[in-house]
Amino acid sequence: MSINVTRSSMPDFDEYIEEIKDLWDSRWLTNMGAKHNKLQEELCGYLSVDNVSLFTNGHLALEAALAAMKLTGEVITTPFTFSSTTQAIVRCGLTPVFCDVRPEDYTIDPAKLEALITDKTSAIVPVHVYGSICDVYAIERIAKKHGLKVIYDAAHAFGVRMEERGIGSFGDAAMFSFHATKVFNTVEGGCVTYADSSLTERLMMQKNFGMRPGGESYPEVAGNSKLDEFRAAMGLCNLRHVDGEIEKRKAAVVRYTERLGGVPGLKIWREQPGVKHNYAYFPVVFDKETFGLDRDEAAARLLEHGISARKYFYPLTSALKCYEGRFELQETPVAEYAAKNVLTLPLFADLTMEDVDRICDIILSKGEQA
Ligand SMILES: *Cc1c(COP(=O)(O)O)cnc(C)c1O
Repeated sequence: MSINVTRSSMPDFDEYIEEIKDLWDSRWLTNMGAKHNKLQEELCGYLSVDNVSLFTNGHLALEAALAAMKLTGEVITTPFTFSSTTQAIVRCGLTPVFCDVRPEDYTIDPAKLEALITDKTSAIVPVHVYGSICDVYAIERIAKKHGLKVIYDAAHAFGVRMEERGIGSFGDAAMFSFHATKVFNTVEGGCVTYADSSLTERLMMQKNFGMRPGGESYPEVAGNSKLDEFRAAMGLCNLRHVDGEIEKRKAAVVRYTERLGGVPGLKIWREQPGVKHNYAYFPVVFDKETFGLDRDEAAARLLEHGISARKYFYPLTSALKCYEGRFELQETPVAEYAAKNVLTLPLFADLTMEDVDRICDIILSKGEQA
C-alpha cells in the first residue's frame, strides 16, 4: 500500500451536503455571503484573534497584507520556506533580504536579524516553519526599536498557541493557509489575522478589485481574491473536527518520536516549551556521516516501498531561478544545511500507527530490509 506525504482532512459527505443545501435557496454563492461571514467569526474565536479577513488562498492573503501595510523598500525574511513567502514579497515590489534561521527550529534567527536592518527596511516577514513558532518576543523588541512592521507567515501554524495566546495575535498581521494539504482546509483558502481594525477596509479592497466597500470608488490597485460560499462551507465543517484531527496527528508524532528520537545522526522535530502545537509536519534532518544514509537516499528507500516523503523545503527560496542575479544574498549556512538534509515524513490525521512503524522500520534498517 502506498502512502503519500499528506492526505486531506474532509468532513463526512452528508455533513458537507447539509452545510451547502441552503445555497440553493439563497443563490448567494460568493462576495462575503452568510457562510463566509460565519466562518470569519468562528475563526476569530478559534484562533483567539481580534480580526480575520478571509481570502481565496494563503498566498494572496499574504500579498494583501503586505499591500495593505503600504510597505516599501526592503523586507527581512528567511529563505527556508515555501516559495510563496518570497514570491509574495517580490510580487509586491519589495526587495527580500534573507536572514539565516536558528538550528533548533529553523525559524528566523533574531541574533542575526538586526545587522540586516538598513534605512530602507520596512518590515520583517518571519515564518512559523513546520508549526514551530518564531521567537516572537525578540522579533517584537527588534521591530519596535526600529519602527518595522511584522507580518508572520503562519501558513503552517493553524491553531498553534503560545502561553494561551493564539499565534495569530503576534505581530501586526499573520497569514494562515487553508490549502488542502494544511492542518485545516477550505480546499483552497487562507486568511489574514490582525489587531488594528483600520486594516479591515484596506484588506477588503485588496480582495475585491480595489473597491471601497459599499462605494463606487476605487482607491487601490488590486485584483480579486475572495473566498466563495462552497469553500467557506467546507471550512465550517472542517472546523468542527479540527481538534480531533490535531489529536490524531499528535499520536503519529508521538510514535515517530518514540521510534526515531535519540537515533544518532537523525535530528527530529521537537515540541517547544510553552507552545500548544498542531503537529503539521514531521521533519527529520539526516546526518550521513553518523546515520549512514543521507536525505536523498532515505527518500529513495521509502519510495521503493511506495512511501513518498518530501524535501520540504528545498531549494532555499534565495536560490530560486527566477531571482537569479536580482538580489544581494547574505550567507545563510544553517538554512542551507537544513535544505540539503531535511526530509518531511508522511503525516496526516488518518495515518495509522502501523504505517508510522513501517516508515520507521524502513528508515532504521537503512533500507536493507523491511
Ligand atoms: C502553503 C504555504 C503558503 C501558501 O498558502 P496557499 O494557501 O497554498 O496559497 C505560504 N507559505 C507557506 C510556508 C506555506 O506552507
